[in-house]
Amino acid sequence: MSETSLPPSPTSRFLLNDEEDSPDLSFDGAEDILRAWSRGIRPDPNLTVSEWADRHRWLSSRAAAEPGRYRTARTPYLREIMDALSPGHPAQRISFMKAAQVGATEAGNNWIGFVIHHAPGPMLAVLPTVEMAKRASRGRLDPLISDSPALRERVNPARSRDAGNSMLFKEFPGGILVLTGANSATGLRSMPARYLFLDEIDAYPPSADEEGDPVTLAEARGTTFAHRRKVFLISTPTIRGLSRIEQEFEASDQRRYFVPCPHCGAMQWLEFERLRWEKGRPETAAYACNACDQLIAEHHKTSMLEAGEWRATATAADPHHVGYHLSALYSPIGWKSWEQIAREWLAAQGNDEMLRAARNTLLGETWVERGEAPEWQRLADRREVFGAQIPEGGLFLTAGTDIQKDRIEVDIWAWGRGLQSWLVDHIVIPGGPDSPVAWAELTKLLGRTW
Ligand SMILES: [Zn+2]
Repeated sequence: MSETSLPPSPTSRFLLNDEEDSPDLSFDGAEDILRAWSRGIRPDPNLTVSEWADRHRWLSSRAAAEPGRYRTARTPYLREIMDALSPGHPAQRISFMKAAQVGATEAGNNWIGFVIHHAPGPMLAVLPTVEMAKRASRGRLDPLISDSPALRERVNPARSRDAGNSMLFKEFPGGILVLTGANSATGLRSMPARYLFLDEIDAYPPSADEEGDPVTLAEARGTTFAHRRKVFLISTPTIRGLSRIEQEFEASDQRRYFVPCPHCGAMQWLEFERLRWEKGRPETAAYACNACDQLIAEHHKTSMLEAGEWRATATAADPHHVGYHLSALYSPIGWKSWEQIAREWLAAQGNDEMLRAARNTLLGETWVERGEAPEWQRLADRREVFGAQIPEGGLFLTAGTDIQKDRIEVDIWAWGRGLQSWLVDHIVIPGGPDSPVAWAELTKLLGRTW
């Protein structure tokens, strides 16, 4: 049942905003009907995912470093991302390329909670492997559900239905959540899904059981829902050229989180290149404003994040595709500090593996493999300009000829130490091997000097 198939009700706001109680009604059975409604058959089109999270999401000390009521204000940049996942938002494809430690996992958790509670429907959540899906079910979903009363009372106890046990189910009124791994084609083909949550997509295998790209397989499950579907793709990026999330982000409208400079007010997105510290002293790390160049101390971050906003920096080919990028520079105070980022960056110098991890997890950017550059690129990079016709180091010359039907082509090469060579001249003598004039010309050429 969709959110558009029910007639408008004058009591709906009351019902939906106060879902724990049913109104006092004058006829038998009405209360049950209304309770069933409020249990999630009819979603509230006005409640967004972030509003839902602030009202209904609870974090226990066993699953969260900061237990208590979930607060979107702690990570204000997640508000718009979460709200793009709400049914009232026109976006259908939401991609999020991010660093570690920015709270991105919670955006996904809140979406799951919102769907269970307020916009029920079939949801498919895909982790890189079935094993990881099982771990996520126990370590992440079970606390999500048991810690928030609104979810606890809606979700039936977990059970596994299929013999192969490659999928995990959570049933709730009006919907079902299936978790599976990108390595299981069976799991990806399991059911039509209005909501697709594709998590850590850069860790997906290239093909699911040799049946093709897991993202494509999963997305095929959503086509029947047309414009009402939502696809949320999220990952820390890996290697340029192989990274799925980078391709997604580049196809999107490429939103960056702009924050105001506390000194001059200029709005800007935070770039690692502008993080400054005294040589060898990461504890002095501060951010240099790109407008006034004054250093911004980290304690300003909280108010900067609060006043921040996402701005598109590109135009998406698909207007329903919004994409977000976030580095650890935005991590709230108390999580990953600028000092830690500077320290980890310094520690990684000289070690490609560590540098790669730092780029991926701190900056949320891909790593460019040195050996990955195409052949022509590496060759082109080695070009150099030499002033004289024969460069310094060219110790002797050779000539090579290519005899064609109607001409003789001659290359003159200079040779130096270590077989380094330079093309000095290229000469075409008209006339083929049958022409005595051409041969005479070639002989003359061998006597020439450069
Ligand atoms: Zn400034």
